[in-house]
Amino acid sequence: MIKTKAYAAQSSTSELAPFELDRRSPGAEDVQIEILYCGVCHSDLHTARGEWHNTLYPSVPGHEIVGRVVAVGDKVRNFKAGDLAGVGCMVDSCGRCYSCHAGEEQYCETGFTGTYNGPVFGGENTYGGYSQNIVVKESFALHIKHTEKDLASVAPLLCAGITTYSPLRHWGAGPGQTVGIVGLGGLGHMGVKIAHAMGAQVVLFTTSSSKVEDGKRLGADEVCISTNPEQMAAYANQLDFILNTVAASHNLDAYLQLLKRDGTMTLVGAPAEPHPSPNVFNLIFKRRQIAGSLIGGIRETQDMLDFCAKHDIVSDIEMIPMDYINIAYERMLKSDVKYRFVIDMASLK
Ligand code: NAP
Ligand code: ZN
Repeated sequence: MIKTKAYAAQSSTSELAPFELDRRSPGAEDVQIEILYCGVCHSDLHTARGEWHNTLYPSVPGHEIVGRVVAVGDKVRNFKAGDLAGVGCMVDSCGRCYSCHAGEEQYCETGFTGTYNGPVFGGENTYGGYSQNIVVKESFALHIKHTEKDLASVAPLLCAGITTYSPLRHWGAGPGQTVGIVGLGGLGHMGVKIAHAMGAQVVLFTTSSSKVEDGKRLGADEVCISTNPEQMAAYANQLDFILNTVAASHNLDAYLQLLKRDGTMTLVGAPAEPHPSPNVFNLIFKRRQIAGSLIGGIRETQDMLDFCAKHDIVSDIEMIPMDYINIAYERMLKSDVKYRFVIDMASLK
């Protein structure tokens, strides 16, 4: 066992605080990674606070993990000590169902095992990246090809990057398509960068007028203030695809009306409270669709990391020490982060 310092929430109402856990010693197919940086996803907050009513406590969040391999098992072929490596939202899946065979482990029929909070259909708890190290099967570790100086800014790609890349690829974002990104937070700012790099015309929809200039700097061709009805009306029937990253319940009709015939709005935001039901006529009259998407498979996560390295894409981050996490959560709720907090794990002494 490897004694590991971490930060955990002990209940839905307690703040995160120091915690010690045991990691398994690496088995034949495992890599042991010293965690250098971990991004702070809104899902960490939803989980720590029990907002999805499925949290196993103590809860050690963190699924945007980057670090250095310090030990590998006998059968590990693709990593060696000293390599940079990443771990995203999953650490295991059944490996036998049609989704696993297709490389879509996130849709595993028996449920993947989350990097934190254990198997999605129940089982032993797992502890995430707000900790000094992690031991993971080689097949769930990712290679990082960015330069080492960018490492902290690469961490958010492991969730925010893949969660936006996967649906943008699946629904064919590219030249000739007009793509809307809703919400400029951790996911949204990666969505803007990636959709732009894929060659789409990108329209950012934000509730924050203070983010207009940033939106353009990050790669949006146009920015629409979504609380302004006149600005919204100008986009009616204009968009091929919308990626909605909003972390709170909101009116979906306002965005459905912006889709062209056969357009799709894909929801990746997972709010604690349901959205009000959309008006079915907004779907029927233009054969529009609402869809959802969950992170991405391991192979696609590697594709995304390689795509981002090639296009020089990283996250815009604010680095924080571990003991700032409770303040960081409060600021995230106020959309007061540009655009992802990343924990410097050297601060966890
Ligand atoms: P985040 O950094 O907090 O960003 C969310 C953004 O949504 C905010 O920056 C804000 O953007 C907008 N927003 C917040 N409250 C709003 C409201 N009441 N009305 C309209 N817009 C609002 O969160 P994140 O880390 O990007 O995560 C976003 C959501 O995706 C969370 O629910 C998270 O759990 C979920 N998630 C899902 C997956 C998946 O696989 N599907 C993976 C990771 C995360 P503006 O200021 O620009 O309006
Ligand atoms: Zn996440």
